[in-house]
Amino acid sequence: MDFPKERQAIIEVGQRLYDRGLVVANDGNVSMRLPDGSILCTPTGVSKGGMTPEMLPRVSLDGTVLYAMEGKGPSSEIKMHLRVYERDQSANGVVHAHPPYATAFAIRGETFDAPMMPETVVALPSIPLAGYATPSTHEVPDSIEPFVGTTSACLLEHHGALTWGPSLEQAMLSMERLEYMATVTAITRQLGGERRLSDERIMRLKEIFGT
Ligand SMILES: [Zn+2]
Repeated sequence: MDFPKERQAIIEVGQRLYDRGLVVANDGNVSMRLPDGSILCTPTGVSKGGMTPEMLPRVSLDGTVLYAMEGKGPSSEIKMHLRVYERDQSANGVVHAHPPYATAFAIRGETFDAPMMPETVVALPSIPLAGYATPSTHEVPDSIEPFVGTTSACLLEHHGALTWGPSLEQAMLSMERLEYMATVTAITRQLGGERRLSDERIMRLKEIFGT
C-alpha cells in the first residue's frame, strides 16, 4: 500500500476518537494532506474504531477519487475537509467528530469559548458556531468557510464539531480540547456558572504566549 505511515496515523486517530467516545457507530471522519498534495481520508459507513490501511481512500483536492476499495469511497463529508485544505495552505489534518458535550452545545446553537483557563485562552481561544447545513450538500463546506484561516475549530449547528491544524495530531488535540472545554463549561454551569479570567490575566497571557 502507498503511504503506509500516513494510513497508520489515520487509523490511530480513528481509534482514539472511538475509544474516547468522541464518535459513535460509524460517525465522524478524518483526513490528512499527503506530501504529493492529495488527501488521504476515512471511508464512508465504517466505524472509526475498526479501520484497516487498505480501506482508506485517497482523493485529489478537487474531490476526484484516486484510490478506493470497492464499496469504500470517501465520506460525503469529505467536501468539508477539502474546503479547509483549499482555503488554508497550512492545514494538513482535519478531524470531524460528534463529541457529546460539544454536540449538545451545537444543538443548542451556543458556543463555549469563554476564557476560563489559561490553556484554552492560549491553545483554542475561539470556537465559532457554523450555521446549520444539510448533510452532504455544498451548504456544509460553505458554512465552515468563514472560519478557515482565522481559527482551528468550529461547532456545526445541530451536528457536531470540526477541527484542523498543521498536522493531523494537532487537529486531534484540538478536538480533545474542544470536548474538554464543553464538558467543563457544562459542569461549571451545574455548580453555579462560569467564572471568566479577568481582562488583566488574559492580557498577561497574551504578552507571555503571544496569542
Ligand atoms: Zn458528522
